[in-house]
Amino acid sequence: MNSPVGEKKRNGSLLHPYTNPVRQQQTGTTLTAKGDGVHVLDGDGKRHLDGMSGLWCASLGYSEPRLVEAARRQMELLPYHQTFDARATAPALELAERLVGLTSEFEFDKVLFANSGSEANDQAAKLIWFYFNAIGKPRKKKLIARTRAYHGVTVMSASLTGLALNHNDFDLPIDRVLHTDCPSYYHYGKPGESESDFVSRIIGNLEALIEREGADTIAAFFAEPIQGAGGVLMPAQGYFERLQEVLTRHGILLVADEVITGFGRTGQMFGSQTLGIKPDIMNIAKAMSSAYLPISATLLSKEISDAIVEGSNRQGMFGHGVTYSGHPVCAAVAIEVLNIMQERDLVGHVREMSPLFLSRLKRMEEHPLVAQSRGVGLLGALEILKDKSRRVSFALTDGIGLVLKQAALDEGLIIRPLLDCVAICPPLVVTPSQIDELFDKLGRALDVTL
Ligand code: PLP
Repeated sequence: MNSPVGEKKRNGSLLHPYTNPVRQQQTGTTLTAKGDGVHVLDGDGKRHLDGMSGLWCASLGYSEPRLVEAARRQMELLPYHQTFDARATAPALELAERLVGLTSEFEFDKVLFANSGSEANDQAAKLIWFYFNAIGKPRKKKLIARTRAYHGVTVMSASLTGLALNHNDFDLPIDRVLHTDCPSYYHYGKPGESESDFVSRIIGNLEALIEREGADTIAAFFAEPIQGAGGVLMPAQGYFERLQEVLTRHGILLVADEVITGFGRTGQMFGSQTLGIKPDIMNIAKAMSSAYLPISATLLSKEISDAIVEGSNRQGMFGHGVTYSGHPVCAAVAIEVLNIMQERDLVGHVREMSPLFLSRLKRMEEHPLVAQSRGVGLLGALEILKDKSRRVSFALTDGIGLVLKQAALDEGLIIRPLLDCVAICPPLVVTPSQIDELFDKLGRALDVTL
């Protein structure tokens, strides 16, 4: 399609993910036609600041020529070859080395590539089962995740996800997955309960769950350092420290789902550093390629990878792998993302921008609709309530999220309503004046919504 069309398409063949299909037929589909830095342009030329980096992923914005050039170079040299049968392309090999180097404090040993965050979580679950079989603990198979977690949409990753929408009518979660408390004190602390008492209560619930099920049946605990799609939920103070102690004591692995929090979003390279977590497995995707091409990875501790190597040798080979694992063009782009992040000290830039971002976020609490702001680095959310003094939510049918989203679009801003909040996650390359533009537009959109 050469010329972007202004008219909205109503009955196309595309089934839109995470969209009400009936409403979509009424409102039509908006064409996103062009990217320009931190902005995207609709088919009719209307410009929006992308306050969500697409889906929490386009960290370098939409017009980074070095990523285009890295992809073009690799396309010309070798557009595809596989990593099966002891073959590999130079970008796949280099990227695996670079990721292990980048995460040296976590002492990962091997990297398995996939194409999406869902697949990374899915393969992590399979590798965990394989690991416990390989070390002679075949009963250790159950996986624990948390309510309001988001780990993706494949059968396994949707099972790990802790949101009703991803389970209802899909006959999920599968039997081996259990859910425990979301660690957001703001949402789940009881009246009069201190933050540390809240942590003690939910850690106690976890211990009770482990006791009930039997620690010898529980393999791993999946956690986003900050729960993203569940509402940008910050864990209560001290939660991860207590959690890790319990998991270690019971021989339960910790999987950090860094699909949103990886690659600088929280002001450090990984959210696990910001939250003081030492995972056995780490899953990454999204900003790994600044979303220019699909790629994800699962990073494994030496203990796990050694056992997988031995177990696979006994079987004859490692019985897992997808066609595009370590795709050379995607890997070349991911390497260039790392180069750019390093050369431009992008993590330092996030730390520099974060105080302005968080103070503008905090100021939004003065608005009658905003009950709370929360955030870290360049990741934030505003809790939007009908009555903030009494903590009354809007009924879902009020469609307040849609009204706010549309008001923001009218202002030229893309944000994402999630349950009772609106998420904000601009490209990491955002400037101070663009942060002001974002919050000025959001403020006006909130005024219209009131
Ligand atoms: N894990 C987390 C924390 C995510 O936020 C997401 C997507 O938003 C996923 C996994 C799934 O990633 P994908 O949509 O690439 O499958």
